[in-house]
Amino acid sequence: MTKKILALPGDGIGKEVMASTLNVLHYLIESHDLDFLITEMNVGGAAYDVEGSPIPNSVLEEAKKSDAVLFGAVGGEKWDNLEWDLRPENALLTLRKELNLFANLRPAFLFNELSNASPIKKEIINNLDILIVRELTGGVYFGEPRGMNNDAEPNYAFNTMIYNEDEIRRIAKVAFEAAQKRNRRLCSVDKANVLEVSKFWRSIVTEMSDDYPDVELSHQLADNTAMQLVLDPNQFDVIVSSNLFGDILSDIAGTLTGSIGMLPSASLDSSFRGMYEPCHGSAPDIAGQDIANPLAMISSLSMALKFSLKEENLSKKLDESIKTYIKNGYRTKDISAGKAHIKTSEVSDIIIDILKNE
Ligand code: NAD
Repeated sequence: MTKKILALPGDGIGKEVMASTLNVLHYLIESHDLDFLITEMNVGGAAYDVEGSPIPNSVLEEAKKSDAVLFGAVGGEKWDNLEWDLRPENALLTLRKELNLFANLRPAFLFNELSNASPIKKEIINNLDILIVRELTGGVYFGEPRGMNNDAEPNYAFNTMIYNEDEIRRIAKVAFEAAQKRNRRLCSVDKANVLEVSKFWRSIVTEMSDDYPDVELSHQLADNTAMQLVLDPNQFDVIVSSNLFGDILSDIAGTLTGSIGMLPSASLDSSFRGMYEPCHGSAPDIAGQDIANPLAMISSLSMALKFSLKEENLSKKLDESIKTYIKNGYRTKDISAGKAHIKTSEVSDIIIDILKNE
């Protein structure tokens, strides 16, 4: 059956990294006779300029019909003063919510050749390969009641951290299954020493571990995990956590690799349809200069091949080609350490050449 892919380049370098990624995708489609249909549409500021909305209904409808959405990046100074509903960044949150993308997967992978870019010592960081699975649509970011009271003495504000059993089970299932495909170790992160919601989270995850005897489950308190990620990151394989803790921990893990232009992400629904995007933004400071690193977007395509498009072997091939590219010394400006570098528009041809020869 035809697999539908929606490509949303967005703004700034989103357009540049998406162009590279689509070159690679078109090559894979032709060389492997894949039954994929790609539709490209505007989103973010680019959509606002044409249609007066950062996420027009036509885009939302197309996204709902697609197996995978490739999302570049949105935003820029031009649209910074619009009210929230019209701002480019609103497109992202609307898509996550409307597509029910409750599972956010963020790998933090270090190419040892680039370990100099990491703020952590080589002997600690080398071979880093972690996957953070963050719950994305629940927890304290969405819990009700929430609010602010400026009429009380003293004034106060409050939020509710709440998870029901189903929400915990579905994110834990994604994490256990991801661990089964990796090194079969899962660390569930919570604050069970102080929060009821965390105690509940821990009991459900522990109970579920009976169904995954091949996965070694451990639990850690979130403050300790923040520390351990810096002190001894290689102890982790897969980490699963709630929305709030995952938000913080995935940024720490990403920072360990030292290169924002190389971090992909996937956000999935319960049938593994999903949205795939680099962790970086639209980088207005370098947009249009042909110097952005497209590898985060290309790696996001690899995640789409693996999770939503059911082409796991091709995903592995693409990952291998990126490793070879780095090993062979190709560097865009962000990772060139001031030395000679290649252009964004040259990267896809190099990756395609490597794919042809592997
Ligand atoms: P940013 O990620 O766009 O840029 C931060 C720094 O990293 C910049 O110096 C940039 O040049 C560099 N950088 C980022 N990606 C790179 C790449 N692929 N190659 C080389 N260098 C890269 O974050 P920001 O500057 O805080 O935000 C810029 C705009 O992007 C804002 O409008 C913000 O709202 C938006 N934003 C969008 C998303 C998204 O679409 N998912 C995420 C974050 C920020």
